[in-house]
Amino acid sequence: MKQGKCPKCGSVNIYSAEDLPLKSGPFGSNSIPISLTAMAALDNYVCVDCGLVESYVAEEYMLKKISQKWKSVNDTADQKD
Ligand SMILES: [Zn+2]
Repeated sequence: MKQGKCPKCGSVNIYSAEDLPLKSGPFGSNSIPISLTAMAALDNYVCVDCGLVESYVAEEYMLKKISQKWKSVNDTADQKD
């Protein structure tokens, strides 16, 4: 969707507000918890034809933090697929 096309309905009417002030939302509603003390703000992309929303972590250093704090999905010993 970052490339401007909706994966669901194929529309090119995609909108985002990357420069939105307070984009982490009231009470951190537009963000995800990374650790006990860190929240990552999200950039949302919305298809105004079908309503699909896609969210991306906004700051690059938060992506790095996630890779340090979270468990990789592909790291598990008993991976099934
Ligand atoms: Zn759509």
